[in-house]
Amino acid sequence: MSAEHELEVLNPATEEVVATVPAADAADVDRAVARAAVAQRSWAAAAPADRARLLRRFADVVDTHIEELAQLEVREAGHLLGNARWEAGNARDLLLYAAGGAERLLGKQIPVPGGWNVTFQEPLGVVGVIAPWNFPMPIAAWGSFPALAAGNAVVLKPAETTPLTALRLAELALDAGLPEGLFQVLPGYGHIAGRALVDHPDVAKIVFTGSTRTGREVMERCARLVKPVTLELGGKSPNIVFADADLKRAIDPFSFLDNSGQDCCARTRILVQESVHDEVRDLLADALSTVVVGDPADEKTQMGPLISRQQLDRVRSFVPDDAPALRGSAPDGPGFWFAPTVLTGERHDSAAACEEIFGPVAVLLPFTDEQDAIRLANDTPYGLAGSLWTRDLGRALRVSQAVRAGNLSVNSHSAVRYWTPFGGLKQSGVGRELGPDALAAFTETKNVFISTEGPAQ
Ligand code: NAD
Repeated sequence: MSAEHELEVLNPATEEVVATVPAADAADVDRAVARAAVAQRSWAAAAPADRARLLRRFADVVDTHIEELAQLEVREAGHLLGNARWEAGNARDLLLYAAGGAERLLGKQIPVPGGWNVTFQEPLGVVGVIAPWNFPMPIAAWGSFPALAAGNAVVLKPAETTPLTALRLAELALDAGLPEGLFQVLPGYGHIAGRALVDHPDVAKIVFTGSTRTGREVMERCARLVKPVTLELGGKSPNIVFADADLKRAIDPFSFLDNSGQDCCARTRILVQESVHDEVRDLLADALSTVVVGDPADEKTQMGPLISRQQLDRVRSFVPDDAPALRGSAPDGPGFWFAPTVLTGERHDSAAACEEIFGPVAVLLPFTDEQDAIRLANDTPYGLAGSLWTRDLGRALRVSQAVRAGNLSVNSHSAVRYWTPFGGLKQSGVGRELGPDALAAFTETKNVFISTEGPAQ
C-alpha cells in the first residue's frame, strides 16, 4: 500500500508502531456521506425519547470501556493515564448531557394577527466533524454528540496521528444499538479525506477543530457552498498576574504544561506585574524543577511526550539552546521529549511570545499597571482563553470585561466544562460548542405561519 493509503500510528513515548490504519480517500468519503444521509432520515424521524435512550445506552457502553479507551489514548497520543481516563469520562458525560437535549429542542409560538406562528428546530442533515490530535476523544465528542442528539448523522475525520480512540467510539456506538451509518469515523489525511468532507455538497455543516491556518482554508472552501462552520482554532492565552494575587496558585506550571502544552487554552503568556516579577520568576524556577516528565502510563508522571517528531522540531525551533530560560528536565532516548520551559528574555512581539508553540513552553513578560496588562493581553490575533489573578474584585470585573477572549477564569485556571459554552473570539474561532445551547448549533430554525382565517363570508 502507498503512504497515502494508510496511517501509521506511533506511540510518542517509545516511537514504536501501535497500529496501521487504512486512510480514507474521496470515494470513501462519498460512500460514508451517502450511508449517513440514509441513516439520518430515519434518525430524525424517530421519537426524541428514543434518540435520547439510545444515546444514554451509548454512554453506558462507553462507561464500561473507560479503562480500555484510556489505555488506547496513552498509547496513541502519549497522554497521562489519569488525563486519558478523564477524557474518556468526558465523552461519556457529554453523551448523557446531550441526550437530555434531544427531548428539549423547543420551538417558539410567536403572537401574530390572523393565525398562529410557530418555529421548529430542525436538524441539518449530515454533519462533518474534523478533529485534531491534541484531545482526540473530547474534541470528537464535542463536535459529534450534540449533533447526533439534535437529529443529525455525523462523519468524523480524526487526526492522522490519533485515529484509534475515535474508531473505537464508533464501534461502541454500534454495540449500543445506534443505527449503522449514523456515526461513522473515517481516518485519513487532511488534504484528502478532510478536504473531501469539507467540499461534499451533501455535508450540511463542518465542525473543525485545529490550527488557525487550516481553519481559514476550511472556512474559505465552505463559503463556496455557503456551508455553515463551527471553528475551534489556535490560542496564545494570557495568564495575568497582579501583584496582590495569590502568587503560588497563579503561577501553577500546569496552566501551560498540561498535555505537554498541546492545549489550545494553555496559558503560555505569563503577564506579571513588574513589582512581583522576580518573585514569580523564582517560584516558577522552583516549580519547573520538580515536574516529573516521563512514561505517561506511570501514575506518578506529571508530563508526557509531545505527539510527534514534527511537533518536537517545531517546539525546538522557538527555543534556541542559549535563550534565557527557566528549564525543567526531560528523558533522553526514544520518544518525543521536551523539558518544561519558561522563556525569560523575550520581547512581547517576538515569535515565541506571539505564535502558538503548542508545546511545554511559556514566556514571562512584565507589565506596569492594569491598562498595560489589558493592552498586552489583547495584543494578539487570538482570543480563546485566559486567566487573571487579583484579590481586587473591581479589577477582576474590569479586566474580565476588557480582555477579548471566549473563556476567562478569575483566580483559577479552570478547565473546559461540558455544560458551559466554549469557543474563541478573533482568529481563535467561530461559534460555540458545549453548554446549554450546544444542540442549537446543529439545527436550523424553521418558521411556519398557520392561518386561522375561515372561508370568505
Ligand atoms: P491541523 O489544523 O493541522 O489539523 C486538524 C485537523 O484538520 C486534522 O484532522 C487534519 O487532518 C485536518 N486537516 C488538515 N488539513 C486539512 C484540509 N486542508 N482540509 C480539511 N481538513 C484538514 O491542527 P493539529 O495540528 O491537528 O491541531 C493543533 C491545533 O488545533 C492547534 O492550533 C490548537 O490550538 C488547535 N486546537 C483548538 C482547539 C479549540 O477548541 N479552539 C482545541 C484543540 C486544538
